[in-house]
Amino acid sequence: MKAIRVHEFGGPEVLRLEQIPCPPPAGGQVLVKVAAIGVNPVDTYLRSGSNASLVRPFVPGLDAAGTVESIGEGVTRVRTGERVYTAGNLSGAYAEFVLCSESQVHPLPEFLTFSQGAAVGVTYATAYRALFQRAAMRAGESVLVHGASGGVGLASVQFARAAGFRVTGTAGTERGCLLVSQNGAEHVLNHLVPGYLDAASALTLGQGFDVILEMLANVNLGRVLPLLSRNGRVIVIGSRGRADIVPRDLMFRESDVRGISLFNLSDSELAAIHHAIGAGLRAGFLRPVVAQSFPLEDAARAHVAVLAQGALGKLVLVP
Ligand code: NAP
Repeated sequence: MKAIRVHEFGGPEVLRLEQIPCPPPAGGQVLVKVAAIGVNPVDTYLRSGSNASLVRPFVPGLDAAGTVESIGEGVTRVRTGERVYTAGNLSGAYAEFVLCSESQVHPLPEFLTFSQGAAVGVTYATAYRALFQRAAMRAGESVLVHGASGGVGLASVQFARAAGFRVTGTAGTERGCLLVSQNGAEHVLNHLVPGYLDAASALTLGQGFDVILEMLANVNLGRVLPLLSRNGRVIVIGSRGRADIVPRDLMFRESDVRGISLFNLSDSELAAIHHAIGAGLRAGFLRPVVAQSFPLEDAARAHVAVLAQGALGKLVLVP
């Protein structure tokens, strides 16, 4: 089968298109014929060597969607030919086939495209983990989705709106702002316009946000702490470096900074998350937004694009 492999850590140029054997499913495993692959920023960090212990060569990629090609002994949750999205895998998603354990494969409703399915795994799981499990938000609370135009941001806006939270989102372009508004944010601000955090604060009428989902904590953490309400929580989702904060900003408000990592979740937490995502996809209030698709052989170009400014949803690869 065709697959992208990384033999040595490095820039996008280390993503090599190769022919490798297709892995057969053992007991409890599912082989998925991949129709679309989700590109996540974490794919670029792993490619660059953020986890030095990763055994090379490896096939990158956490998210995919397609049809079940074959199943191993004992698999009962899915059948051959069924449309699925995958969340995590055993062999790497940047390929024509991906091997998963049974718990990593979830039904994809007929009315969603495979590209939309490939946009589900990491982004919606992160959004749910942040809003409901780490921030423990309650209906009526307010949330600032700081970086709402990308994969995680739009998923967060959709979940938050459906749950009855008051949502403000940010984006760095006019088109991004429009998209965030179309996906359910009550207020939208451009995070590249000077003074936008004062405008965000004014929207809360001095009360502050109950929750802030932060996509770029190294740039923003110190600046958003004064925007929290009493007992407010910042959930650090993304960060690409160090941050300066004034600890006093946390003291007066008795507010919290909480991290999140999808890689820490227990099987039962993951199962709960994907039950919630499945319900939202079927009900229609979760609608994955795909910005652009690239052929699999252009994975290097997609890795440059996923880190560029001007997000409009998710990037996908098509094998
Ligand atoms: P993405 O699709 O590339 O979106 C990036 C988002 O960040 C866009 O909305 C972008 O807006 C926004 N952004 C850019 N500059 C910003 C600024 N100065 N202030 C606030 N936001 C800004 O990426 P993603 O998939 O949504 O992931 C977002 C981040 O979360 C990444 O760093 C990713 O690695 C991380 N993440 C972490 C976990 C975890 O488990 N902790 C899981 C998933 C993702 P514009 O492009 O419109 O400017």
